[in-house]
Amino acid sequence: MLFGAIHGDEPLGVYCLGKLCEQLIERPPGRDTWIIPALNIDGLAGGSKNNANDVDLNRNFQASNWTPEHKPGYFPGRIPESEPETQALVALIERVGAQRLIALHSPYRTVNWDGSGQELAEAMAELNGYGASDDIGYPTPGSFGSKYGKELGLEVITLEIPFLEEDEAWQQNRAALRYALDLPT
Ligand SMILES: [Zn+2]
Repeated sequence: MLFGAIHGDEPLGVYCLGKLCEQLIERPPGRDTWIIPALNIDGLAGGSKNNANDVDLNRNFQASNWTPEHKPGYFPGRIPESEPETQALVALIERVGAQRLIALHSPYRTVNWDGSGQELAEAMAELNGYGASDDIGYPTPGSFGSKYGKELGLEVITLEIPFLEEDEAWQQNRAALRYALDLPT
């Protein structure tokens, strides 16, 4: 499962997933695939990181490190998984039994992994040249990676795409994204 724009001000992931979808019409992927181009659609429409309730959705997941304490702009919600976007994603992952989970973000330049994602992260990083790491460099309580990677041990990738022209972002990441779907790169 791949999703973009959990942060509404990171539209490059939406673009790249749209291009990936176009390619899948020509050739279906090698595994069951779910693509959510934009999770935080209100944020995307308004150009804001947070959702319409001003919650940072990537701090809203039910992980043991979730905390109500936060820096300005990183409100994690009143309780974990309070937000409709979070609830919808959690329900879909459970319903389809997704094991490989890829979140597209900006503006860093790295393939970050949690849980059992190291091998996939390193392969993707070979293809986009971004480098792979399991440390994004700052605490992320209540994040998607905390819940599904660190706690549930799934294959979680946080692909950080630097600010680029849309087509450049797609060209840099096309092979890495196709690889993640078992498509020829
Ligand atoms: Zn982000």
